[in-house]
Amino acid sequence: MARYDFDMITIGAGSGGVASSRRAGSYGARVAIIEESRIGGTCVLRGCVPKKLLVYGAQFSDAFADAAGFGWHVPPATFDWPTLIAAKNKELDRLEQIYVNMLRNSGVEIIEGRGVLVDPHTIEVGGRRYTAENILVATGGHPTVPNIPGIEHVISSNEALDLPTLPRKIVIVGGGYIAVEFAGIFRGFGSDVVEIIRREELLHGFDDDLRVALAQELRGRGIEIHARTQVARIEKAPREGYSVFTTIGQEISADLVMYATGRAPNTKGLGLDAVGVKTNERGAVSVDEWQRSSIPNIYAIGDVTDQLNLTPVAIGEGRAIAETLYNNNPTKMDHENVPTAVFSQPPIGTVGLSEEQARRQYGDDVDIYCARFKPMKNTLSGRDERTFMKLVVDGKTDRVLGCHMIGVDAPEIIQGLAIAVKCGASKRMFDQTVGLHPSAAEEFVTMREKFVRPQKQAAE
Ligand code: NDP
Repeated sequence: MARYDFDMITIGAGSGGVASSRRAGSYGARVAIIEESRIGGTCVLRGCVPKKLLVYGAQFSDAFADAAGFGWHVPPATFDWPTLIAAKNKELDRLEQIYVNMLRNSGVEIIEGRGVLVDPHTIEVGGRRYTAENILVATGGHPTVPNIPGIEHVISSNEALDLPTLPRKIVIVGGGYIAVEFAGIFRGFGSDVVEIIRREELLHGFDDDLRVALAQELRGRGIEIHARTQVARIEKAPREGYSVFTTIGQEISADLVMYATGRAPNTKGLGLDAVGVKTNERGAVSVDEWQRSSIPNIYAIGDVTDQLNLTPVAIGEGRAIAETLYNNNPTKMDHENVPTAVFSQPPIGTVGLSEEQARRQYGDDVDIYCARFKPMKNTLSGRDERTFMKLVVDGKTDRVLGCHMIGVDAPEIIQGLAIAVKCGASKRMFDQTVGLHPSAAEEFVTMREKFVRPQKQAAE
């Protein structure tokens, strides 16, 4: 008789948990996965996938507007939000079923309910106990909001994806991925959007030139950005909507207030403390490079570890565990040069170091190459939107340290360049690569002149 009910039990059926469980199952491990909600997790049900579907929907307004320059006569377009939300929900149902089938096909047992650790090998779900040799915590995260008066009136991205009606005007607080993406979504559907950020620029941590370019483009699309602004309180208006009061005395009225001020790991009530799994000050499970927690048979991946909170990273971490434990193939997730995209409008794609990070690591010997141009399509469409691209290069070795882009198709283009950066490509190799003409992407292999920043704005 086996010592434990399972070889591995995963808590949380999001992208990371599912990927790890399936991979382990495919190697013959006896695996169960516990989920208290629907199968699919944040990415499939409350994040990447529904968000991107709404981004696609919102982009049609550009297409209708741009078509006239190419000779199309488009009658005034109308849009029905409930139709889109119903179609999106139908697609999520389909994806959830695919996830369920994939788990079953890999021999993974699905246990419905909330899992709580009882000891390092035992988890209780709804009064029933299950044991496993290894336990994987893949419980993800949840949106957090600051504690200010009236915060109970605000929505998060969870509710924004399922609103019964489209707001005429929305205030979005935060300047990170989620805030910027939803600002673009609501603006694309015609809502008035006010974004409130506490810093000077959006997207803290991204390359500064990208951040400046993004703000220009968002403002160009009519998104009002209130920089260096904090919200003091939110009040429900007497008839409908809300008033947002800032710390500098402004009052901004809107139908809806959305907060996208970060996310926190889902570790409360899991019994982690009781069994000795260490968490950090943000509540994230602390793990080593093998994703192992302070208890050797308990692992954690993805947002619950609060390292690089991106779906493909969680999947990579989860698969690495399955390789290590069940395929005799010790594997660590490589967190270097992970590309990332922000599905703002226009979108951003980026891989490697920003100029600021490169200068901190490599000193003054960092070369910068930039291109800023009007994409060919915008000549006839008349759209006043520019694409910006940037290469950050180590002046000593000629190695490309970072590629950054804001403009149509940036995520698609940067995914390809991420391979070059991962391979350690030099700027010379970029130059030797033949451009694909006519494309925007070819600019990345035709940048000849080093960018010399005017003294005043030189990066620190
Ligand atoms: P982020 O951490 O990216 O951004 C949070 C934003 O809220 C920052 O602008 C931050 O400001 C601001 N903020 C935090 N606290 C406060 C406060 N008390 N008052 C006012 N502003 C505040 O979080 P998100 O919620 O946007 O996204 C969470 C994570 O999800 C991302 O980091 C990313 O890893 C992942 N994600 C990835 C996506 C993708 O790959 N496309 C899409 C969506 C999410 P400051 O900069 O000053 O700290």
